Amino acid sequence: MLAVDDLSCREFVALVTDYLEGALSDRLRARFDRHLAECPHCVTYLEQMRDIIVVAGRLAEEDLSEPAREALLEAFRAWKADEISERSANEPPEDTG
Ligand SMILES: [Zn+2]
Repeated sequence: MLAVDDLSCREFVALVTDYLEGALSDRLRARFDRHLAECPHCVTYLEQMRDIIVVAGRLAEEDLSEPAREALLEAFRAWKADEISERSANEPPEDTG
């Protein structure tokens, strides 16, 4: 018997990241858990997603370090440019608003 309240596998897949992040409401999580109890395929899917997110999370951190460093260098460059323009007001400051 399929109640209206039941989650479909498609909904499960759509919500799995929210579930792992603890972003689901209590009610939605209860439906999620109920689907897990009835659907071994989604249990396997959840396990795999958990692994992927752990790995992806680590990768994302490494990806972030590069732009973060770039942003820092940008800031340093801006400070330096500020110093230079104070000494030799040759270059007008870039005002791209
Ligand atoms: Zn399922």
